[in-house]
Amino acid sequence: MVGGRLKETRFHDVYLPLRKDLKVVFHSPHAAAPKREFYTGTIVRELHRRIGTAGIVAGVSRAVADLNRPADHTGVDCSCPENYQREAVEEFFNQLKEIFRELGVLGENGKVREETLLFGIHGVKDEKGYGMILGTRNGSLCPIDLRDRIKKKLEVLLEAGGVDINQNPIGCEISGYEGHPFLEEVREKFGEKLNIIQLEISRTLRTRYTDQLITALSMVALAL
Ligand SMILES: [Zn+2]
Repeated sequence: MVGGRLKETRFHDVYLPLRKDLKVVFHSPHAAAPKREFYTGTIVRELHRRIGTAGIVAGVSRAVADLNRPADHTGVDCSCPENYQREAVEEFFNQLKEIFRELGVLGENGKVREETLLFGIHGVKDEKGYGMILGTRNGSLCPIDLRDRIKKKLEVLLEAGGVDINQNPIGCEISGYEGHPFLEEVREKFGEKLNIIQLEISRTLRTRYTDQLITALSMVALAL
């Protein structure tokens, strides 16, 4: 079903949209080893395969270039040259732009001109006590009411899929860490019609409820 819509670039696997009516992009910046967030790349790829959504999967580890950090980021334990980070971020912006163009939402001024959602797909430790955490930097990346509507929908869909929501609750803006400041830069670049939600998903949901999770995310994308 990928049908030639996969584009491998220097730092990314880019899944160009199969359906232009789904104004949503799934992004897994920490999908590559070492220090990968398990199943996050699979989730993005599988969403593309099932419903045709656009996706960007990191092809390099966060130790080489962290696609959830700005161009000048070097990282605490990163021994890689800064220029990889800069090149990778630049490439990320270019690939996003190409997806927006394909979705027909890129204006002549380079801004997104129609409501579009960018989902950052991440992994969080079970020890945090949540099944999922939605982060929008307290509404600066996405209107709170949209975030809350999506949270509610995910709860209902996951519960219908057999996930115990009391054991795996869905929270919002728990520590502020689930919505990196870099994403404000992304939104500024593409404008306020681009809404961004950073989704931190527990290991349990990623590994034991993978199918239910992908189904829930696809239902959310289809109903946007
Ligand atoms: Zn992450």
